[in-house]
Amino acid sequence: MQLIIQNLSKTYSNGVQALKDVSLTINKGMFGLLGPNGAGKSSLMRTIATLQEADSGSISLGNIDVLTQKEEVRKILGYLPQEFGVYPKIDAVTLLDHLAVLKGISNKGERKGLVEALLHKTNLWNARNKNLGGYSGGMKQRFGIAQALIANPKLIIVDEPTAGLDPAERNRFLNLLSEIGENTIVILSTHIVEDVKELCTDMAIINKGQVLYKGSPLDAIAEVEGKVWTKTIEKAELESYRQNFRIISERLIGGRPVISVLSHEQPEGGFTRTAADLEDVYFTHIFGNTQKEVAA
Ligand code: ADP
Repeated sequence: MQLIIQNLSKTYSNGVQALKDVSLTINKGMFGLLGPNGAGKSSLMRTIATLQEADSGSISLGNIDVLTQKEEVRKILGYLPQEFGVYPKIDAVTLLDHLAVLKGISNKGERKGLVEALLHKTNLWNARNKNLGGYSGGMKQRFGIAQALIANPKLIIVDEPTAGLDPAERNRFLNLLSEIGENTIVILSTHIVEDVKELCTDMAIINKGQVLYKGSPLDAIAEVEGKVWTKTIEKAELESYRQNFRIISERLIGGRPVISVLSHEQPEGGFTRTAADLEDVYFTHIFGNTQKEVAA
């Protein structure tokens, strides 16, 4: 099954054009949708999840026309929204069971088996009788995946799932996602480059509603390989470097700025060639050819 998005556009009533002629083909596996805040990721995710309308364009999922056959989509969709609220005074077993009823699983025995399997899969079995209000951020997100998996979905959409998770929780969550991605289309929307680099076989970079890159992370890195140069400088020099070089990223290492620039040849002034990283690709696309913005 493939998800095919063609020429999708959306302008909100306040005049913001959130999606501009977006076309993407997404196959089984983990697909990373990478872009800064405000890029249009949630608008695209919500449209695919049948929660909002597009102005023009089409989306198909296998034989289903996503924009018109919403009920069909919902039957095979698992969605973890950006703001995933849980009822704090209910435990995981009770809520999952209730959500399974809402999904139409009326057989009690079948529900019990399903809920238990989901709790094991998401590593929440030991916390199954605890109220959700007492869950950590990572546990809440894993619970979000458990509820998204109830209907055995063919398409799973997770919107910015790792924001706010500590490194251990983030790893656990991403491992869970990648397991799921072996059999399903999983779309991971994120502004965190590392999430995409570690997990996704395919990706797109979007900004200001437009797709700036689509392909595999490895091909993306190959595009800039050999052209990334870095230099450690003094803080006082930063402004002059910004004026004179096409800086794609600035970070502080040990309190000193390290700048990266993109260039076919070694720039003057003691730059060292560095192995390209997905982050370099990302900033190159996001900041374009002329911009010299801070990319911390
Ligand atoms: P992202 O998920 O990448 O942060 P969004 O899709 O949430 O991006 O937002 C894209 C743009 O659309 C932003 O400029 C945002 O302010 C605007 N936007 C999002 N939702 C609405 C809405 N319901 N009404 C008006 N503008 C919106």
